[in-house]
Amino acid sequence: MRDLVSALDERKRQRLYRERQTLEGAQDVEVRIGGRNYLSFCSNDYLGLASDPRVIAALKQGAERFGVGSGAAHLVSGHSYAHQALEDDLAEFTGRPRALLFSTGYMANLGVVTALTGRGDTVFEDRLNHASLIDAALLAGARLVRYKHGDMASLKTKLAETGGGTRLIATDGVFSMDGDRAPVSGLEAVAADHDAWLLVDDAHGFGVLGSEGRGWLVDQLRKPAPNSILMATLGKALGTFGAFVAGSEALIETLIQQSRTFIYTTASPPAVAWAARAALQLVRDGQHLRDRLELLIQRFRAGAAQLDLPLMSSDTPIQPLLLGSAGTALSYSEALRRRGILVTAIRPPTVPRGAARLRVTFSARHEPEHVDRLLEALSECAAEIPDVAC
Ligand SMILES: *Cc1c(COP(=O)(O)O)cnc(C)c1O
Repeated sequence: MRDLVSALDERKRQRLYRERQTLEGAQDVEVRIGGRNYLSFCSNDYLGLASDPRVIAALKQGAERFGVGSGAAHLVSGHSYAHQALEDDLAEFTGRPRALLFSTGYMANLGVVTALTGRGDTVFEDRLNHASLIDAALLAGARLVRYKHGDMASLKTKLAETGGGTRLIATDGVFSMDGDRAPVSGLEAVAADHDAWLLVDDAHGFGVLGSEGRGWLVDQLRKPAPNSILMATLGKALGTFGAFVAGSEALIETLIQQSRTFIYTTASPPAVAWAARAALQLVRDGQHLRDRLELLIQRFRAGAAQLDLPLMSSDTPIQPLLLGSAGTALSYSEALRRRGILVTAIRPPTVPRGAARLRVTFSARHEPEHVDRLLEALSECAAEIPDVAC
């Protein structure tokens, strides 16, 4: 039997050991951990809705009306009016014929890819895709082919090399660890040319980009072809929990019949769906929040450029600083923490070896002076941690 303790020790030596932080209160730009307050730049609560009083009120109201647990899977007796109403809202909002709720984004990706592909089929994935999309192809038993990040020529070459079977192209809409956007209109054209499905995971674009926050895919493809599939999550900009897939009538019916991660699991609490409906309305009315995010991002990028910090080419609220080794990224994270600032170090295998980073994210609830505090602390860290060219 493999010795778990020595494997864990080895992980620590490589500075790849991960630990949880226990938040004593709500998710927000200021969080309390171990009796101390921290200014946080590492949630995906981009619009600050996770602790919005109107979303909290909707959750309470939902619990009063629908109870807590759903009590069963959607296809048994767990599908409530709250779920249905949210699906209808999401279909209307994204301009797709139908939407289907999943308990999590991870399960939604597994559910779509396993329902549409299997042995003998091929799934093409951007090299920097989220782990759930990679795992989805592996679980499906399809051949997994990875193309160069955002590179249409690389994708076309790989498509030309494969034979029969169903083809599915999957990509993050906004890349979760890099913050840049996938060329979705180019991808749709390539998918159409090759009679392939296109699955876009817009976890980080939904609520943040596009008109009324409809997301990166909908912003780019207003009249989507029936082969394009949108997946987005409700646990990020919407500040709640869960995920959905939107697409054609036939696609959604197929998922209901065949997605094992939809069928064989308890429906999420209906009150959470009720809260997500309230959050969706706040997203639609939240242009001022998106404008504010934009200003915070610009302020950070201008300041970081002045300090010669290793910014990446992102204009979304995900603003990573590329530091290289896991050790350097961790040293930065620890040095910031000593200064009361929370930014997680993202290390392999979440990102490639040598591409460890600080994943800085912004929320509309940050103040401009929060950004200045972060920049000041980063400049002190850069002076104190020698191992990096900045
Ligand atoms: C967070 C995330 C997921 C998973 O969504 P959950 O609802 O947290 O399971 C999937 N894809 C991407 C790109 C993500 O960032």
